[in-house]
Amino acid sequence: MASVDNDCLFCKIVSGDLPTKYLYEDENIIAFRDINPQAPTHILVIPKDHIAYAADINEKHSDLIFSMINRANKLASEEGISSDGYRLVINNGKGAGQTVFHLHLHLLGGRPMLWPPG
Ligand code: AMP
Ligand code: ZN
Repeated sequence: MASVDNDCLFCKIVSGDLPTKYLYEDENIIAFRDINPQAPTHILVIPKDHIAYAADINEKHSDLIFSMINRANKLASEEGISSDGYRLVINNGKGAGQTVFHLHLHLLGGRPMLWPPG
């Protein structure tokens, strides 16, 4: 059975309670544009299931993680940012900048990315 947290913002996006335009959807994941973009392209790829932290990932999630990264790569191509390079980021925990506690992969591109990221 799908795991849901009724207080979770991204679970509300998955359920449709918080209407959001999806760029992609399949059985296990969705992708949508970040509401506060940090780059010309800033897309979030998330599992439909509520997984709070990247640190909660285990072997059972290997197909899911593959499909999230694979989808981010495809979206990067569709956005035309592949050849210049793009960044895939998962913030794990408050100290790393995580503000929504439902796993999400940031796809950022369309501008030069600095390192260290701050
Ligand atoms: P993080 O700081 O890694 O937890 O990233 C959470 C991201 O979710 C931030 O970049 C927010 O701008 C983004 N965000 C928060 N609420 C929404 C929303 N309703 N729709 C799209 N993106 C959102
Ligand atoms: Zn959630």
